[in-house]
Amino acid sequence: MSDSRHLVVVGASLAGLRAIEAARADGFDGRITLIGAEPHLPYDRPPLSKAYLDELPVGQEPESTVFRSEQMLTDDLNVEVLLGVPASGLDTAARVVSLSDGRVVDYDLLVIATGADARRLPGTDNLAGVHTLRTLDDAVAVRAALDAGARTVIIGAGFIGSEIASGAHKRGLSPVLIEALPTPLVRAVGEEMGAELAALHTRNGIDLRCGVPVASIEGNGHVERVVLADGSEIPADLVVVGAGAIPGTAWLEGSGLTVDNGVVCDENMWTGIDGIYAAGDVARWHNATFDRPMRLEHWTSAAEQGAIAARNALNPSTPKPYATVPYFWSDWYDVRIQFVGSTNADEIVVVEDLDTDGRLVALYREGDRLGGVLTVNGQTEIMKYRGQILKRASFVDAVEFAEKRKAARANASRETVPTPS
Ligand code: FAD
Repeated sequence: MSDSRHLVVVGASLAGLRAIEAARADGFDGRITLIGAEPHLPYDRPPLSKAYLDELPVGQEPESTVFRSEQMLTDDLNVEVLLGVPASGLDTAARVVSLSDGRVVDYDLLVIATGADARRLPGTDNLAGVHTLRTLDDAVAVRAALDAGARTVIIGAGFIGSEIASGAHKRGLSPVLIEALPTPLVRAVGEEMGAELAALHTRNGIDLRCGVPVASIEGNGHVERVVLADGSEIPADLVVVGAGAIPGTAWLEGSGLTVDNGVVCDENMWTGIDGIYAAGDVARWHNATFDRPMRLEHWTSAAEQGAIAARNALNPSTPKPYATVPYFWSDWYDVRIQFVGSTNADEIVVVEDLDTDGRLVALYREGDRLGGVLTVNGQTEIMKYRGQILKRASFVDAVEFAEKRKAARANASRETVPTPS
C-alpha cells in the first residue's frame, strides 16, 4: 500500500533536492511537492563565483550548473515542482504553507530548506551596477559586467568576494578589493590565518584595502564610484557586495518555530514541531561532534542535512542525528583553500607554509584537542585531518601526525629528484 503522507520541501536548491532524493531512495512513494522562490530548477552555487565567471570565446555560454533536468524531477523522482513562487507563511496548526500568489499547500511532513540571502548595502537598491552574488541571476549580471571590462570594486574580502576578485584578475581586469576590518576572514579562519590568506591577493597584485569602511556608493542611476571613509574615491562600473548572508527565515514569522540566527533544530534537524525539519544554510542545529549549536553555510553540510532531515521526517521514531566535522573549500587564483572543523582556537600551529613547502597546513588547538585544520594546496591531506577531529585526536598526536606526513613528503620528493650522472 502506498504511503499517503504528503512531504513538502520549501527551498528548491541543494538541501531541498537532497531531501527529495533521500526520501525516494528511502522507499517513500507518497506525494512530494517542491516549492522554490527562484524561477530556476535547483542549481549548484559554488561554480557561480568560480568557473561561471571565466572568460569564454564570444558566443559560448558558461556550463549550466543545474543539478537535475525537469524531467528527472517530475518523472523519475515524481515531484510536483512549484517554481518562482516563494512561500510566504506557515500555519503549523492547520499544517499549511501559504504561497505569495495566494495558493496554499497542505503538508503532513515539511522540510524547510530556504537557505540564506545575500546581505545588501542599504541605499543601493536603485543603483544599477551594484550586485550581490548569491543566485544564478546575480552571476549572469556580474559575468556580463566583467565581459564588458567593468572597473570592478568588490566590497568584502570574504570567500565569495575573494573568488570574484580572483575571477576578475584572471580576465586581466584590475579589481579593487575592500575590507572594512583590518584583516579579512577572521570569523572564518581566525586572525592569523586570515592575514595569511589575504597575502594571496597581494601576491597576485590585487589592490586590497583593509580597515577602511565604505562611506558611500555613488552614481547617477548607474554606479560611478565608491567612496571610502578615509575620503578616497574608487571609480567603478561594477560593485559586488560580498557582505555575508542572512538565513531565509522571514516567511516563518509568526509560525511559532524558534528562529534565532536560523531555524533552531535539535541534533536530528527537528524543529520541535511535529513533522517539521530544517536543513542547509537556514538551519541552526545541535552538532553533537562539537556539542554546540552551529549554522553552516557550506555545500557539504547542506547536502547531508537535506538527506537526514527528510529521512528523519519520514521515520520520526528512529531518528538519526546529524553530527559532523564541518568542511568547506574555496578556490582563488591557482590554489585550493580547505578547512575542516571549528575555528574556536586557543592556538594555531603552522606545520607547513606556502613559501617554504608550497602548501599550508595549519592545525587549530581547542583545549587539548585538534579542533580544526586549514590547508592551502592540501587536497591530499585535508580529509585525513577531518578523520582525526572526528575521532577526537589529541593536539599533540595531531601535530606529530602532521610532522610525520611533512617528513614523508620531503623524503618522497628527495627520492624523485634525479641524481646527476
Ligand atoms: P540555498 O542554496 O541558499 O538555497 C535556498 C533556496 O531556497 C534558494 O533557491 C532560495 O531562492 C529558496 N528560498 C528562499 N526563501 C524561500 C521561500 N520563502 N520560499 C521558497 N523558496 C525559498 N560552499 C562551499 O562549501 N564551498 C564553496 O566553494 C562555496 N562556494 C559558494 C559560492 C557562491 C557564489 C555561493 C552563493 C555559495 C557558495 N557555497 C560554497 C555555499 C553553498 O553553495 C551553500 O552552502 C548551499 O548552496 C546551501 O544550500 P541550501 O539548499 O541550504 O540553500
